[in-house]
Parts: sequence; structure tokens; C-alpha cells
Amino acid sequence: MAALIVGAGSDLTYLTGYRIHTSERLTALVLTADGTSRLVVPALEAPRASAAAPDLELQEWQETEDPHALAAAAAADTGDIAVGDQLWASFVLRLQAALPGRRFLPASEVTCGLRMRKDDAELAALRDVGASADRAYARVRELEFGGRREAELAADVAALLRSEGHDEVTFTIVAAGPNGASPHHYTGERVIGAGDAVVLDFGGTRAWYCSDITRTVVVGEPDDELVRVHDLVRRAQEAGYAAAQEGVKASDVDRAARSVIEEGGYGERFIHRLGHGIGLDGHEHPYLVSGNDEVLERGMAFSIEPGIYLPGRFGVRIEDIAAIGDDGRAEPFNLADHALARVR
Ligand code: ZN
Ligand code: ZN
Ligand code: ZN
Repeated sequence: MAALIVGAGSDLTYLTGYRIHTSERLTALVLTADGTSRLVVPALEAPRASAAAPDLELQEWQETEDPHALAAAAAADTGDIAVGDQLWASFVLRLQAALPGRRFLPASEVTCGLRMRKDDAELAALRDVGASADRAYARVRELEFGGRREAELAADVAALLRSEGHDEVTFTIVAAGPNGASPHHYTGERVIGAGDAVVLDFGGTRAWYCSDITRTVVVGEPDDELVRVHDLVRRAQEAGYAAAQEGVKASDVDRAARSVIEEGGYGERFIHRLGHGIGLDGHEHPYLVSGNDEVLERGMAFSIEPGIYLPGRFGVRIEDIAAIGDDGRAEPFNLADHALARVR
């Protein structure tokens, strides 16, 4: 690898501390194997970039200049080039045109191994944003659900996340009754009714690090099958926690949780992987999924989120963020109550 080029996004934040939204103006950090680093940056963004990353050499470009040529010039004369996985195709195609004959690779081959193993400051940030999400959930349980639309609840959830310390809210899934059977239901107009199971999956960021928590609540009294299914999901999640240890394969953690649900007779209704890594991105490596033989190490952070989805009826999911701690076991970053909460 002769050079690494990453654009706006989490790799840039990870490597420099500078965060900028993705836009049609190219921002590109160019690192070379012989140790040079340069941030090609739109002139209007330069003041903020130099404040966030004062040690970085900036190359400003004016509105009429071609930033791709500037990035290409910084990228060594020969050798492979790794480009950020989140760099838009429109930028990559122009960089390829400016660097003919060079082989392009995804930067995750370099950055993924770094980002997957969190240092203490990163773990502290995840713990902190997780605690903020927990506090929000405690207040969500006090809200009135019955007779209100999912979208209204979602707005309340977002406000509570902010008031409990989130800088940004990224998603608020409120999936009531049959809508809960779709894991990524698009929160909408359904009026929440008595007896509905409601899947609440929400998260955002604080100091750039992500939260992601799911709890399932019920409006009033649950029916027997909801109680049974919720208990099964909860036991599956506990099995996931117990299995998630240093030295264990990611796929085996998925298996441990999944076999609880299979033994309970709902194996075919657990229709997604057990979990995903989390950090500066809401979903990143390592993925807890069948077929991923990556071995868990200290400092890896991920979700543990089993679910059961019964089409036309309801869904149940419980999700926490956890990380492999110094004792080699999974430390929970979400401590909010896991029980099937009765809401109004
Ligand atoms: Zn999801
Ligand atoms: Zn998740
Ligand atoms: Zn989630």
C-alpha cells in the first residue's frame, strides 16, 4: 500500500479528530507509506479543519480548482492506493482518472483492524453514550403510548435522547403491533393500541460515538405468547452475553443465542444476525453472524440483539451494546431494565 485516501466520514474522524458532513466538495486525507500526511480541504472548511486537527498539513482548494488532482499529487508516485469505504463513487472515479494504472483497494483492509480494537478513551465514550441512551429509555417508559401515533412517540424518544446527553439522534424506530414483525420498520402513522407490543430501537451519538438500544414494551397487559416470546429473547440475549468472551469466534456467539431461540421453537423467526460492531459508525466490524470466524479480542464493541418476528402479529427484540473488557468477558454498556415493561 503506497497511499491511503479517506474522505468525509468515520475513518477521517478516527485518524484526525476532524468531522465533516459528506458533500459534493471533496475533503480527502492523503497518507503515504513514507509518512507524509495532508488534508485536501475546501477553503471554506479550512478554519474548522485546522482547529480540529492543528497538526495536520492542510491543502486548501478554491471553488474553481480540481481537488482530485491535488489529492492525486499527494498520493506517492507508484504503488497501490487504498480509498475509504465511505468515499463516494463520484470521487473515486475521478481519483482513478487522475491516477491511471494504479491499483485501488478498500481502505477497510487497513482501517478496520484499527477501528475494531477500541482503546480506553473510545470505550469510555461508548459507555457514556450508552448510559445516556439508558436514561432516555427510563423516561420513555413513563410516556403515554395508547392512542398516539408511532411517529409522535418517535419524536418524544428523540427529544429524550437529546435531553439525556446525545448530540445527535440517528434513528428512532417505534414499531407497534404487527409493525414490530419488521425489524427495520419505518416508523409511521399507526395509532398504538391496548395490548400492542412496541419495539423501540433508537440511538445517536455523543462525542461522535454511537448508541444503539432496543427494548420491547407492551401497552397494558400482554397476552401469553408475548410473555413467552419475550422471555425466550431475553434468555437468548443472556446466552449471547455469556458466550461473548475473548478468544471466542463471532459466529459462535451468534450460535449460542440462536440455539436458545431454536430450542424454544422460534428458530425460523429470528431472521437476522445476532449483532454488529459499533463505534464511530453505528454498524461496523466485527459482525456477530454465522460464517464470521473472526475471534473476539479485548476492546471489541458490538451489539447483542436477538429478536423474534411473527408476521401479522408482533415482534420482540432486546439489544444492548457490550465490549470485551479486561477480564475477557462482555461488559454491558446498556444496563436499562430488560423486562417486558408495561406502559400506559
Ligand atoms: Zn438493525
Ligand atoms: Zn443494532
Ligand atoms: Zn438497534
